[in-house]
Amino acid sequence: MIENVIEFFKNLPAKKCTECGEKITEQHECYGTKCDKCSELK
Ligand SMILES: [Zn+2]
Repeated sequence: MIENVIEFFKNLPAKKCTECGEKITEQHECYGTKCDKCSELK
């Protein structure tokens, strides 16, 4: 079961920040399409 979940996330394309193009480390779904740095900028 757990392995299936890992495979599922491995197969997801890496999200990139729409602002700077950095890879987004997904920790919270609410981060959306921006990285930590750009999410803090307003
Ligand atoms: Zn960014």
